[in-house]
Amino acid sequence: MRVRIDEKDFINYPFLKESQNFVSSYAGSPERFLGTSTGKAALAQAKDRILSSFAGKSGQKTAARTSIPTDSEGIKIAVSGYALARVIISCMKDRMVIDRFTRNEAQKAYECLLDEEPDKKVFVATSLGIDISADEVPLVPYVELSSGMREERWRLVNRDIEHGMVKVKKNETDEILRECIRVAISRNLPLPIPQGICEVLSPVVKEISAAEQQHLLEQFGSVDESCFPPCMQALITALSAGTNISHPGRFALTAFLHNIGMNSSDIIGLYCRAPDFDLSRTMYQVEHISGRGGTEYTAPSCAAMRTTGVCVKKDQLCDRISHPLNYYKQKKRKDKRAAPVLSGNMLVNRNAGGAHRENEAGNSENIRDSRGHQQGEHDEENNKKNQS
Ligand code: SF4
Repeated sequence: MRVRIDEKDFINYPFLKESQNFVSSYAGSPERFLGTSTGKAALAQAKDRILSSFAGKSGQKTAARTSIPTDSEGIKIAVSGYALARVIISCMKDRMVIDRFTRNEAQKAYECLLDEEPDKKVFVATSLGIDISADEVPLVPYVELSSGMREERWRLVNRDIEHGMVKVKKNETDEILRECIRVAISRNLPLPIPQGICEVLSPVVKEISAAEQQHLLEQFGSVDESCFPPCMQALITALSAGTNISHPGRFALTAFLHNIGMNSSDIIGLYCRAPDFDLSRTMYQVEHISGRGGTEYTAPSCAAMRTTGVCVKKDQLCDRISHPLNYYKQKKRKDKRAAPVLSGNMLVNRNAGGAHRENEAGNSENIRDSRGHQQGEHDEENNKKNQS
């Protein structure tokens, strides 16, 4: 039976080819579209879409259901808002923003699919190249899909593989489908956007960047070394003792410190004691990882850290997290509850001047949702770059 995809579906599944064709049918060039009333409203919607991804997935289902427009103009604004959001995050080239956006969008589409008619669910899955009735996934796509999945059970070493096919259980199909959506949304991001369009969008980009900084500040607060995970503590101890650390270790430590808000000069200062310290090379590396080259990196996940041998001295909290940033957030929260006046070994305290504040309420989401490492998860990508 032929499945009919209507305009409501374009809103729920804007990554489908049919949805993209729908946008192309009325939008024309981005410059022209942004000058129209529909384009202006879509731009506002795109900004909200990106900003809402900073807040995590809580409440998304309700919001997604209640805000679906039914009129033709509203549908155009909603669908092109998704397309414009992709353009904006491509101009930003910030991996964390991209990762948060893709995970948030994938989660929303996935929640819609859970309540979808079976035929439509199969249609969407098939469009993404996945057979949800099968109990196996071809090896190559599985590797791409599982790179963003944090639980140990998804690692290839923990799966049965036969004749190039990875076995999956019936109750895992939906999770696979969600990852398929995330991969489809992430594909080709950041897009190569002409400079002129990025200039037109620069006020929105600046607004989103400022909101991201504020969100990071609320998430992580002041830098507190006593809450660093064992792997990062070990890397800092090695540096302090004048020991060279591996390239993956440098990458992980620099990205971690940058992600929790330490500024580049403080990070560079840490590397001064390394026997092979070279100021200009260290400056280049730190600034590159921190986004000076146009791409900001996220610290690797625990799984990636294990792969590169940088996960050491695991403790009890490590058993409950899958990302060093999540360890840090949880430890800070726990310590704050236990001892309102913190007296740890303060490596750097950006809060000393009272310029920053901590917001416990903003710390409730999981790092998977906020960076996802929001994060594409970029751990694998980071890892590959790290080893190259
Ligand atoms: S489990 Fe994660 S947080 Fe803990 S030491 Fe290993 S990499 Fe670090």
